[in-house]
Amino acid sequence: MKNKLPVVDFSRLAGDSPPGTCVVCLGGFAASDEVRQLGNCRHVFHRACIDRWIDADGFTCPLCRSPLLPSPEEEEEKRLIVKIFTTIRSFPLSIMNLQINLFISNLYVENYL
Ligand SMILES: [Zn+2]
Ligand SMILES: [Zn+2]
Repeated sequence: MKNKLPVVDFSRLAGDSPPGTCVVCLGGFAASDEVRQLGNCRHVFHRACIDRWIDADGFTCPLCRSPLLPSPEEEEEKRLIVKIFTTIRSFPLSIMNLQINLFISNLYVENYL
């Protein structure tokens, strides 16, 4: 989770109205502070603060409660489905054999029991 959230210097967050304080520690940001910006809501926290928050099983933004990243489960699911289809397409015969084998062993188990 943590390595998906970019770490940047606070001074690099030029542009989109940088926040005055980190709601985790209620401290201000210095230009040289390492901060993480959340992928979904763009809220910004000290790196150490949000790391501690994530370690305590915080998977939502401490400020607005939106997920830290744009639905990681969905992305993972899509990635898996693509992987499965790619595998099936490259080994069509072995997959079919596998299913036939499974079918046969199921039959065997049913008869045996
Ligand atoms: Zn902080
Ligand atoms: Zn937020």
